[in-house]
Amino acid sequence: MIGTLLVSVVAAIGLNLFPRYDGIVIELLGEQTLDPVVHASGNTLRVAFNQPVYREETRSLPIWLDGLSVDSSGFTAEFSSLVTSADWALNGDSTAMIVFARAGEEILLPPVSWQAPPPAPDTTLWSDSLVFAALERGEGSPWLADFDCIVVDPGHGGRDPGAVGANGSQEKDRTLEISLMVRDLLRIRLPELRIVLTRTSDEYVSLGARTRMANRNRADLFVSIHCNAAENRSAGGFETYFLSRARTDDARAVQMLENNVLELDDVSTVSEDPLSFLLADMAQSIFQNQSSYLAGAIQSNFTQLFPGRRSRGVKRAGFYVLRGAYMPAVLVEVGFISNPEEEQLLKSLDFRFKAAQAIVESIVEYAEREN
Ligand SMILES: [Zn+2]
Repeated sequence: MIGTLLVSVVAAIGLNLFPRYDGIVIELLGEQTLDPVVHASGNTLRVAFNQPVYREETRSLPIWLDGLSVDSSGFTAEFSSLVTSADWALNGDSTAMIVFARAGEEILLPPVSWQAPPPAPDTTLWSDSLVFAALERGEGSPWLADFDCIVVDPGHGGRDPGAVGANGSQEKDRTLEISLMVRDLLRIRLPELRIVLTRTSDEYVSLGARTRMANRNRADLFVSIHCNAAENRSAGGFETYFLSRARTDDARAVQMLENNVLELDDVSTVSEDPLSFLLADMAQSIFQNQSSYLAGAIQSNFTQLFPGRRSRGVKRAGFYVLRGAYMPAVLVEVGFISNPEEEQLLKSLDFRFKAAQAIVESIVEYAEREN
């Protein structure tokens, strides 16, 4: 019996997933020669072998895959509706197989890296009192020396739909979709970066909990993703905020809109202790240069990728969700869901992908400047 088990373990082949701009690579790694039998039907691809397959990576599925199951004789990939075709190839000595799923839209490919992100560092090294002492000396948060962790914050969620468009689109859905793409693209562009999402499904997360998550992870950057809304249906375009006192009526209106959700929070989650609020305010004034640099980069990347759309510029406002963060932080309003044309835009995959791309390129520029 033990002999049989050993044989099957030795014969098993590992499987890795790599999201790309235009599809997903499923790579099989085996010592022995592979002789796959591939069967495609609809959005499902069945690959059979004579040996069991196991998944080496535990990271969650990229947007291109709805499901991936492995079993004793191969694996079945269920592509999402974004995938329009799939192809596969064996390497020279038939020891590795790559299944390549392509989305309808072909987008410029960055080089694919095969590294996995590093494990989470020991964050207990930096106690709040150490952070406080550093901030008091005007030094910024001590862990920021290495740009190795980012928090991506999909605005709203769960019982908080955010802004709702005339045709019923909810901000919380659009922000989650864009954030998941940002995560997938970041894994390719900055494979060593640890990426934390404040939510990965349609769930309610209080504003305070979002920044606490970032602080607890000792993140180096906090990027909150939102869609704008205005009473004037023709208002449109994209803008990026960093934390400061609102300077214009427009900025104050957006600040009110995004802080509205505080009413949904339990009192206990809203009231922070005064020390941490003081800390956060100090932190955000120390990080103002970095935050405004990133905000500027996001605006210029959006302008490049969307030449026909209106840049509303870099703005400042007192967003609660940015206020508690002990790291540089920005809030991106990718478009107006209250504008029927932009609501339609926000529904298109191409738009959301480009928006994610603009945000990711800006983070890459920021990382290059930091490291
Ligand atoms: Zn919002």
